[in-house]
Amino acid sequence: MIVITAPEQMHEWLHSYRGGKSIGFVPTMGALHAGHEVLLQQAQHENDITVLSIFVNPTQFNVQSDFEAYPRTTERDLRIAEHHDVDVVYMPETDRMYPEGWRIFIEPGTAADPLEGLGRPGHFRGVATIVTKLFNTVQPTRAYFGKKDYQQLAVIRQMVSELNFDISVVGVETVRHDDGLAMSSRNIRLSDVQRSTAPVIHQALVSAKNLVDAGETSPDVVINTMTSRLAAADGCRIEYIEIVRQTDLQTISTINCPSVICIAVWFDEVRLIDNIEIEPPQR
Ligand code: AMP
Repeated sequence: MIVITAPEQMHEWLHSYRGGKSIGFVPTMGALHAGHEVLLQQAQHENDITVLSIFVNPTQFNVQSDFEAYPRTTERDLRIAEHHDVDVVYMPETDRMYPEGWRIFIEPGTAADPLEGLGRPGHFRGVATIVTKLFNTVQPTRAYFGKKDYQQLAVIRQMVSELNFDISVVGVETVRHDDGLAMSSRNIRLSDVQRSTAPVIHQALVSAKNLVDAGETSPDVVINTMTSRLAAADGCRIEYIEIVRQTDLQTISTINCPSVICIAVWFDEVRLIDNIEIEPPQR
């Protein structure tokens, strides 16, 4: 008989007992683009089996019209999945995920509070709930999330740790268009003019990083510089620009630890987010 007293030991024992194949899992809402494809490639490279899920999750949308407007391109997505040798595409029906009478939600941890959490109440509750349901169903060894949704990655990491999921969460670098705009399923909703302006988001983030690399330690100075630049960009409305600690996403008063600049802007009805990691200036 074996007595186990810690969750990670229990996980280790189960691994060796089962001796099974590793499963790499990429959860998405479909409308696949090159950003998703990089997640699939990494999952494929690091695991025996790759599972892709496609599910447009109603509980993470604050606005019904945004949920309805979300692009759905299933045929094309399946071709892309096939191209990447995905073993299983999991596409559950909405009423199987949220059947009549269903009411249990996962309440996310502190990482969900700032940034997106302020402007999109309930968003991460919906994310934590659907990811838990997907994790319970797919039972992956590793799950792949993009750093483009930096806070989402932090919320999932915290949830996996606090709820003792036996899953490694892998963060993948943001994939960008040649002009720097982060790939996003929402980009196709930009007009031609908005699309040509939108790279200013990444340009402002890179300039801010350069400012910090050159010795600036004041978040206010960095944020003000970015604000001026984006305010001058036609049709771009800033929702927030924040500099937070990488570890727990708490606001900082001076840039003296690994941090991340997070930004959310609007072009008319289209909301875009992006971020860049920064290190404190070398002394
Ligand atoms: P979504 O379908 O938008 O929910 O995204 C599914 C996954 O793809 C999430 O983990 C996202 O962070 C990730 N993702 C979306 N866009 C990108 C990108 N441009 N680069 C890397 N990962 C991305």
